[in-house]
Amino acid sequence: MEALKLHVLKFGGSSVATPERIRNSVAIVRKRMDEVKVAVVVSALGGVTDELIAIMDKACGKDPQWSARFDHLKKRHTDSAQALTTGAATGDLLRDLDELFTEFLGQLHPIRSAGRISAKQRDHVLSFGERLSCRIFAAALREGGVAAISYESHHFVRTNNRFGDADVDNAITNELVRKRLGPVNGTVPVITGFIGATAENEITTLGRSGSDYTAGLMGEALGADVVEIWTDVNGVLTADPNIASTAVTIPRLQYAEIAEMAHFGTKVLHPRTVLPLEELNIPILIKNSFEPDNEGTLITHEYSRTNGMLKSVSLKKDIVLFGLKSKGLDRIHSLLPRALQALEDAGVQILFSTAASAEFGISFAIPAHAEKAAREVVYRAFEAEYRKGLIDEPIALDQVSLVTVIGDRLIHDLGLSGAVLSVLGENNIAPLAVAKGVANRHLSLVLKNEQARTAVVLLNDHFCVHAERVRLFVAGTGTIGAELLHQLADVTNEEYDLSVIGACDGQRMIWNAAGFDPLTVEHLLLEGAVTDWEFIITKLTSDYAYRTIFIDATGSAEVARLYPNLFKAGIHIVTPSKRANTFEQAYFDTLMEYTQGKPTHYLFEATVGAGLPVIQTVKDLLRSGDAIESITGVLSGTMTYLFDQLQQGRAFGETIRRARQLGYAEPDPRDDLSGEDVARKFITLARASGIRLERTDVTVENLIPAELRTVSAEEFLSGADAFDALWKDRMDAALARQMTLRYVGILAEGKIRIGVEAVPLNSPLGSLRGTDNLIAFKTRRYNASPLIIQGPGAGKDVTAAGVLADIQKIAIRLVR
Ligand code: ADP
Ligand code: ASP
Ligand code: MG
Repeated sequence: MEALKLHVLKFGGSSVATPERIRNSVAIVRKRMDEVKVAVVVSALGGVTDELIAIMDKACGKDPQWSARFDHLKKRHTDSAQALTTGAATGDLLRDLDELFTEFLGQLHPIRSAGRISAKQRDHVLSFGERLSCRIFAAALREGGVAAISYESHHFVRTNNRFGDADVDNAITNELVRKRLGPVNGTVPVITGFIGATAENEITTLGRSGSDYTAGLMGEALGADVVEIWTDVNGVLTADPNIASTAVTIPRLQYAEIAEMAHFGTKVLHPRTVLPLEELNIPILIKNSFEPDNEGTLITHEYSRTNGMLKSVSLKKDIVLFGLKSKGLDRIHSLLPRALQALEDAGVQILFSTAASAEFGISFAIPAHAEKAAREVVYRAFEAEYRKGLIDEPIALDQVSLVTVIGDRLIHDLGLSGAVLSVLGENNIAPLAVAKGVANRHLSLVLKNEQARTAVVLLNDHFCVHAERVRLFVAGTGTIGAELLHQLADVTNEEYDLSVIGACDGQRMIWNAAGFDPLTVEHLLLEGAVTDWEFIITKLTSDYAYRTIFIDATGSAEVARLYPNLFKAGIHIVTPSKRANTFEQAYFDTLMEYTQGKPTHYLFEATVGAGLPVIQTVKDLLRSGDAIESITGVLSGTMTYLFDQLQQGRAFGETIRRARQLGYAEPDPRDDLSGEDVARKFITLARASGIRLERTDVTVENLIPAELRTVSAEEFLSGADAFDALWKDRMDAALARQMTLRYVGILAEGKIRIGVEAVPLNSPLGSLRGTDNLIAFKTRRYNASPLIIQGPGAGKDVTAAGVLADIQKIAIRLVR
């Protein structure tokens, strides 16, 4: 039979705070014992360690209140004992507790008379919290029918004599634990957390929250299969839930990640718990004793992705930021290494350091309680320089906190750090110092205390909780841009979050790192700042280079010339505008250089055939190794409408005016009739097919009568009737031959020809109705009969939908 596994279960102060909580924790142990062997580590009853400190301090300061608080503490424990046990067990337990309280009182006497407490005395007093709770918990287990023995860990956790935060000697501890606790069998050892002892048997403590560490040590020594930390929250959350109510559980973390979080202030696990377990590959499970069915957080070697771009945000309060600077431009040899060494030698923990130069100026953050020590050692280290007046008095900023975001993406996505700063900046939070190295998966910010909590909330909400954010800048809120904003409001997707961080029209621009409700954009633009393209490009490339898609719905040639600036910064572009692709061939080549086969994406499906998948088809054909021989088609909805109406006997002038009324034609319909729009679509198609050509390689039949080319739009509209007869004759002649007229383009042999052609009435082109487009690809494979795409090729809905589809295509690529 396979040996039963061993689980170490550690119950924190909140899980043993009251008799009811203890009973609940006992039930968790009992249930676990159906499957495995169990060793238990307990903290002091919730709040007791703080109370011990208070009693000690009062006794030391000769404040008579100490005695009432002592009695109260004693009563709390004896009440618990009585609530949890019955019969003879109660008497036994009360005797045990009484013995401990007598020892406790014995410790307080010298403290009271001396009026001071040594670190050693302090640790001895602190040990009572766990020693009391341990007896109570073991008795409660026995009362629940589980064989259990209590153990005081100072008998087997060997430490040095750094009282208050002692270092453990793992080798000796392992040996002692194994000797004392032997192989764990059906009897549950209940072990005090938090305390150890020196070789001289002086009690030490392992630092606040040290019971986690004890659990790790027991897991190591006993070869546990898992160490479970039972607390009062559902595992490790993206941020401290007391600060950010929106924080969510992180289901899986790596040892290195939790160690980093703990180092930077996440309180849920003592930082030193991790290392011994990591080396032995023992998983750590963080569970909620108030919600035992919640899965909590599992910590292993394995990396797992989370919803957000970043894993978590930590806060470390009560720190001091030191600035040390040489006077004037005098260099001080090895300012940085010497300062760090001095602090290290004095045992001052350095939480953060930056140095623009190792010789002119540095800053570093340390816990506030170490400020005095730090000043002294720094002064000593640079005594000679101080005497010569080479160095300034150190600047020390207190009332500051360290906020740290953690996530693997910080290593590779260089724009992400900028995004973090801009979210804070938009909320008027400016860090006093920032530190991030190239290989670091954390970014640390020193902030004023009063801003730190807000920063945690913002960063948690923006980077840790949400589905992955892909940011959009919408340029142009004309017909297509406005429709796109409406469609964006309806997008829901579990993999990413599309967030409009900025928008502009010809007059105004607006920004919000937190993202706008797309439906409010048009309205908010009325109050925006004056549109300034230089500013827009600078802001996008410096603050939003990370995961941002620029949507050009302006139709402006000037804007189309700005694309390379955006691509250079890694910003993706989606556009329905035909401008950029139809300037000189060299410009198109430049756009491709930045985007083809590169991580920067450029999609322009909506430039040809609106929402129809025309460009995508070209790409797919080419990618599959096919060769395009010709592309024929009607690429103007306006033209389809015009010739369909002429075919049905309607007059030319009247049809043009109606097309404009119905929105099928541009405000000045000559923009459609000139054929330039169709020419641009064909040039785009040709270039997307890999054919290099210029506008001069395209012949276009212009349908605007020569006499009406320079007059006003109104004059054109009223003057068009003069050409009714001419078009009627042309159409009738075609119909007489079972043909009809269509405005057709053909791309073949590197050239494009566009103009009116007679096509058979019953051919695909001849049967086009409404504003449909039709594109026929003749390729090496589609030869006998072409590949045809047909459908509505104009209209704001389908065009905006084409733009949206491109945005989503990029978004998916960015988050996967
Ligand atoms: P215990 O009493 O079980 O030892 P602690 O108070 O030491 O519990 O740790 C759990 C507490 O840590 C939670 O109640 C929560 O307030 C706090 N905490 C801070 N940051 C986080 C975080 N990122 N995830 C979970 N808990 C956190
Ligand atoms: N009781 C100790 C403290 O409050 C240790 C622990 O709970 O982990 O810090
Ligand atoms: Mg704790």
